[in-house]
Amino acid sequence: MLPFKLVYSDDYYLPIGAHVFPAEKYQRIHKRLLETGVAKASDFVTPQPASDQDVLLVHTPQYVHKLKTGTLSAQEELQMEVPYSPELVRAFWLAAGGSILAADYALHDHIAFNVGGGFHHAFPDHGEGFCMVHDVAVAIRRMQREDKISRAMTVDCDVHQGNGTAAIFAGVRIPTAPLPSTSAPTLNSLLPAKIRNAHAGDVFTISLHQENNYPAWKPPSSIDVDLPDEIGDDDYLSWLDNALSSGLRQFDPELICYIAGADPYREDQLGGLSLTIEGLKRRDDLVFRIARARNIPVMVTFAGGYARKVEDTVTIHCNTVIAAKEIFAT
Ligand SMILES: [Zn+2]
Repeated sequence: MLPFKLVYSDDYYLPIGAHVFPAEKYQRIHKRLLETGVAKASDFVTPQPASDQDVLLVHTPQYVHKLKTGTLSAQEELQMEVPYSPELVRAFWLAAGGSILAADYALHDHIAFNVGGGFHHAFPDHGEGFCMVHDVAVAIRRMQREDKISRAMTVDCDVHQGNGTAAIFAGVRIPTAPLPSTSAPTLNSLLPAKIRNAHAGDVFTISLHQENNYPAWKPPSSIDVDLPDEIGDDDYLSWLDNALSSGLRQFDPELICYIAGADPYREDQLGGLSLTIEGLKRRDDLVFRIARARNIPVMVTFAGGYARKVEDTVTIHCNTVIAAKEIFAT
C-alpha cells in the first residue's frame, strides 16, 4: 500500500474525439499502476466534481455561465482547442474536484496525486490550450478559503509555460534581482536559459518551459525559466534546482502544487526540450526530495504529454508515482 492517496476517476476521460491530447491516458495510468503492483485498488480515492462556487473562486461568472449554458463563441471554442460539450464541462469540473481532494490529502499525508488535472492554460475568463478550468488554482483558492493554507507555490515543469497560472496569481509585481547570481559557478557551464523574476502575491508561481513554444505571450510568473530547445537532462535539472532554491529563498509555502507535465520528453510531438524518461524521473525525484527535506506538502497533477507512443507518456506519469513512493515511503 502506498503512503499516500491517488485521486482518480474513470470519468477523467476527456470526450474530445481524435485529438493530439491522449484523453485515454488517465485510464491507462490507472491500469498500469495496478498491473505493475505500484499501487493497490485501496490507494485510489474517487473525487466529486467541484461545485460552481469552487470554480468561481478562480473563474469569472460570465465565463462559468457560458460553460454551463453552452454559449461560448466560435472564437472562444477555437482558442480552447478542444470541442465544447456538456460532457467535457463535467470532466473539467471533476478534474477540479480531484485537485481539491488531492490538495486536502496532501496536507495530511505530505503528498497526494490527482491522476489528472494540471490544466494550467485556463485563464479566469477563457480557456486555452486544451484547458477549460484551472483545477490547480481552484484547489489552492479552496484550501485558502477554508483557512487550511495561506501561501502556496506552483512548480510547473510542463514543457509549456503556465500562462493561466501566472495570470490568475499575478501579485504586486516588484522586480527583484535577476537570477541566478553570476557567482553561481555551477551554472556557468550550462546552456544559457533566461530567468525572469517578479514578486509574488499569496501564491508563488515557478514555470520551467521551452521558450520557443506555446504560449507566444508568456505573462510573468514569479519565476520563469525560459529554456533553450533541446536542453537535455543535466542542464534542465540544474536550472530546476536553481529555480526551486531561489523560489524557496524568497517564499515560504504551506503547499507545493507540482505540475508534472510529461511533455519535456524528447519524443514528444508538442515539445522540444529533449529530456529522457530517466531524466524526467530525476526531475520528479528532485522536486520531491526538496519538498520532503523542507517538510512542505506536495499536490501533484499530470498536465500535458504527447509522446508519439502513448505508452511513453503513461510510463513518464507512472514514474512520478514511483518516485514519490521511493522518497515518501521511509
Ligand atoms: Zn504542455
